[in-house]
Amino acid sequence: MNEELYDKARDAAANAYAPYSNFHVGAVVVADDGRVFEGCNVENAAYGSGICAEGNAISSAAASGVRKIDTVVIACLDAGECYPCGNCRQLMREFSVDTVVVQDGSGALRVHSFDEILPHSFGPDSLGDG
Ligand SMILES: [Zn+2]
Repeated sequence: MNEELYDKARDAAANAYAPYSNFHVGAVVVADDGRVFEGCNVENAAYGSGICAEGNAISSAAASGVRKIDTVVIACLDAGECYPCGNCRQLMREFSVDTVVVQDGSGALRVHSFDEILPHSFGPDSLGDG
């Protein structure tokens, strides 16, 4: 199943809008109800305000009402390894992601628990009552 999702993430990466970085990333998220959402990175001339593939896919899922994501699969066309940035790791935490799958550069996939991706994380359940 991860291979199929990875292929779908690669397809999304092919649609990345990355004229500045030429770094094409795609992501697929699987919601807890089984629905699948895709995203690609979308850059703009104000470099810092571009959107990551993972954030794009998670935002798409959120717009469809998803609040719990089981798996995020990330593919990159222009690098061997492709791990999520810090912002996306924190965004994944918000949606209680369980598993993150990334390419390892040799054609194989690495499957990580979320705690491996962002240990000792802080999220909505970390907030106290005051
Ligand atoms: Zn990111």
